[in-house]
Amino acid sequence: MVDTYMSEKSLSAFSLVKPSMANKTLEALSKDLFELGQRFSDNKEVRSMSSYSLILRELEEQCVITKGPEGKPQEVAVKSPREIPSDSLQNPSDPDATYDGHKGQGYQVQVMESYTENKDKTTLNLITHVEVEPSHISDVHALIPAIESVQERDLGPQEVLADSLYGSDDNHTKTQELGVDLVAPCMGKSGDESLSLADFEYNAHLRIIRCPCGHAPVSYKTKKDRHNVGFALDTCNACPYRSQCPVQGGKKYFYLRYTGKTMRIERRRKSEHTDAFANKYRYRAGVEATMSEYNTLTGVKRLRVRGLKAVSFSAILKAIGVNIFRATAVRRALMPSSDSFLPHIECFLSKIYRFATRLGFTISRYKEDLLSYVLHCNIKPGLAF
Ligand code: SF4
Repeated sequence: MVDTYMSEKSLSAFSLVKPSMANKTLEALSKDLFELGQRFSDNKEVRSMSSYSLILRELEEQCVITKGPEGKPQEVAVKSPREIPSDSLQNPSDPDATYDGHKGQGYQVQVMESYTENKDKTTLNLITHVEVEPSHISDVHALIPAIESVQERDLGPQEVLADSLYGSDDNHTKTQELGVDLVAPCMGKSGDESLSLADFEYNAHLRIIRCPCGHAPVSYKTKKDRHNVGFALDTCNACPYRSQCPVQGGKKYFYLRYTGKTMRIERRRKSEHTDAFANKYRYRAGVEATMSEYNTLTGVKRLRVRGLKAVSFSAILKAIGVNIFRATAVRRALMPSSDSFLPHIECFLSKIYRFATRLGFTISRYKEDLLSYVLHCNIKPGLAF
């Protein structure tokens, strides 16, 4: 195995496998890993090695091990790609990195920034929250912790614009409890009927009191969050909107069954077609520009560090860099002479450096990044890093 994997030739060709050979190579690799795992399973010293734990993790997540008659592991086969979980080991050099079908291997960064409708150059909008996660985690779970985090720091918003992945019904309910208005489109599409649940008139308890034609229901049942409303057969049969209405024919009545959740979602879907929603939601596009700015200015998509902790630290530092750029631009717009602001930036950067050092982070690898911010800010030499 040392000859196979550790020779100079094999190391120089590492990961250069032809696509046509991929399956064969995976099979050979899984067999070798299995053999290594078995051979050292009784060796206490080897078992305590992190590389050995990674071998076991790889086998468990990406292979199927069949047992022999004595119950001992006997054979190994590679799982099909669909069976391999997205949080499985992607790279032994970075065990925290995971996989996402759209974003690929690595990490993802959740970013929240302030916004105003004012486009004036003197308005300062800053990144207020940065959270790095393994890339397999769904965006839907990021919103509430982000709002709670900014509220703890007295930076809580009145309103949050987010894309549809963050706009679940649960998130809407929770943001309302936190006193924040969430503006986000719903996932999926409504049914083909041109009339929807949202076209019915309902009271504060989401109970339907009138249909779109103005008829009141003749029967009503509710159980927990489930509602079952009946409309008179004669009325619905004679209704010109019958083919477009979501009610369904039954023996006694035309029924409409719904839950509070479906009603809320339909109401939101309806509001998405209004000018008020479009006018408000268009400002969300700004965060896409921020992500591009974040990457262009700081190179956040290609970090020189590994591991969740180091990646988080680097991403946060780079977001601070973007904020410094923005603050500088606003101060420059406010003050005819920017020279008077330079000492403030110098002092701020020195504070970041001292704070990071006190937390025990190795600053040397971030030193270049900070220096590049300084150079972009046109600060003259003299800053002590
Ligand atoms: S079909 Fe029945 S419930 Fe639907 S709009 Fe017509 S009268 Fe109202």
